[in-house]
Amino acid sequence: MQNTLRILIELQEIEKKVRALAEQKARAPIQIAMMQEEESKAAGKLAEKEEMLKSAQRLRKELEREVEDLEGRKSKSKQRLLEVKTNKEYQATLKEIDDIEDLIRKREDQIIEEMEVAESLAGEIREHERLLSEAHKRLEQEGAQLEKEAAKADTLIASLEEEKERLKPQIPAEMWQKYQLLSANRGGVALAPVNHSTCQVCHMNLPPQLFIDLQRNEKMIYCPNCQRIIYWVGHEAYKQSSPASGEPE
Ligand SMILES: [Zn+2]
Repeated sequence: MQNTLRILIELQEIEKKVRALAEQKARAPIQIAMMQEEESKAAGKLAEKEEMLKSAQRLRKELEREVEDLEGRKSKSKQRLLEVKTNKEYQATLKEIDDIEDLIRKREDQIIEEMEVAESLAGEIREHERLLSEAHKRLEQEGAQLEKEAAKADTLIASLEEEKERLKPQIPAEMWQKYQLLSANRGGVALAPVNHSTCQVCHMNLPPQLFIDLQRNEKMIYCPNCQRIIYWVGHEAYKQSSPASGEPE
């Protein structure tokens, strides 16, 4: 009985490790996909800011060309000022020059605005370049690490399964069936340690007589509340095989 129970405890630990490894392995591609998404988001943001900078620069060039045009028109108007015949024409030309100068000032203000926009965008671009490079580095390093761990998990799972196959024949068939049924119906936890007369899985206090029987360790005993196979952690036979011996690497 002791031996069967000890092996069952061991089996449960093995199955727990296998589940943890399988979960870790299943998480890896999700984590990698998340990092890829972060990288492509960062690249998208950077491209967006670069596009905004380009358009600010284009607008500035257009404004500068317009100012050049306006300067040309102003010179022509000034030239005409020397050739006008009537006062009315003179006043009209002066007004024209005034209007052109107004427009030039407006355009020059806009040019300054676009320069400021470009400057702030250049700062944002540097920041987004940094973020993109970080996201890229993270994907490369952590992604490689995750892939390595997933590959290692396969090897570990295989060796744990081998160990399980080796232990299984040592358990009486009837007990093995009970164990599997319990495990399937109780979230993979068929056995529960008992400490200070309390089931460590469902936290129920055992009736005193049952706890005494458990300490005697002469037959299989089940938790009256959660129906799991219970064992007393204080018993020499189970001290070594009790769980919490650490998660797989
Ligand atoms: Zn219980």
